Amino acid sequence: MNAEFTILIVDDEKQNRTLLTELLQDSYNIVLAKNGTQALEKTQSRAPDLILLDVLMPEMDGHAVIRALKANDNTRHIPVIFISALNSAGDEELGLELGAVDYIAKPFHPPIVRVRIRNHLQAVHQRLLLEQLAMIDSLTEIPNRRRFAEVYEREWRRCMRNNTPLSLIVVDVDHFKLYNDTYGHAAGDLLLKRVAAAIQGSLKRPADFVARYGGEEFVVILPEIEAENGKQIAEKIRFEVEAQKIPFPDSAVAAWLTVSLGGATHTPVHAELDAALFVQADHCLYAAKHGGRNQVIWAT
Ligand code: GH3
Ligand code: MG
Ligand code: MG
Repeated sequence: MNAEFTILIVDDEKQNRTLLTELLQDSYNIVLAKNGTQALEKTQSRAPDLILLDVLMPEMDGHAVIRALKANDNTRHIPVIFISALNSAGDEELGLELGAVDYIAKPFHPPIVRVRIRNHLQAVHQRLLLEQLAMIDSLTEIPNRRRFAEVYEREWRRCMRNNTPLSLIVVDVDHFKLYNDTYGHAAGDLLLKRVAAAIQGSLKRPADFVARYGGEEFVVILPEIEAENGKQIAEKIRFEVEAQKIPFPDSAVAAWLTVSLGGATHTPVHAELDAALFVQADHCLYAAKHGGRNQVIWAT
């Protein structure tokens, strides 16, 4: 951990800012603010991982700052530690009531401050790790359905704002039940990893996104891609999976493993997601299955 973490130090007295900076700058990135307004500004541009907040400051005091931080969705998660010359139990209680994770009274013992900060950042590190894990499919290590839902909504809104098309592809492994029954579940698992990697390898732009939707089904989001181009990308995915020539002699389609794909394109007009795009792509997937599998069908 350490250097990847940024700590915002908010104190109106230069001497205090310098003291805390010298104490922490070897281990963390330090950002300084000398009043409440500046502190809020600095949290907007890039949220720090932790804030050390003085209570007594002219104009906007520490209590007003933490209230503003907690009222904003973008900053309410940032842990705040009050560092204050007010050292009655009532002051400490109020600080913690307002949402601070800790309260350190001045004058402080520097090594203790350092250890407390380290402990709080460890908790931040663990929370970030858990948040990431909650978005990843554990088998294939690509994003899961929950992450898909977030990205899908975000890209939908972005394409609406830009008045650009959004393409969606649903990918389904052909005769996967038979593959499992023939080669065993472990081999099936390995195959899902290979299919996930093949799809990911077919996507080139940073905004292109693939997730495991469930079982042996994957979804691809292609922002700002119109139907013709989307269909080409779907065809590339189909080809990349087939090109791996994963042996599957019992398949009714080919001597190796194949996938079927359905796709559709919409240019969003409303901010809220229209379920029709997914439904259309899914219908096309079924048409691809009924049409003989190992093929792409795109909605017209
Ligand atoms: P189709 O070509 O029509 O898509 O037929 P299919 O056999 O692929 O489809 P079906 O939906 O009948 O079977 C999907 C199979 O995927 C059944 C299920 O046991 C298997 N499956 C789902 N999740 C996993 C997984 O995580 N690992 C493994 N090994 N198999 C899985
Ligand atoms: Mg299948
Ligand atoms: Mg399926």
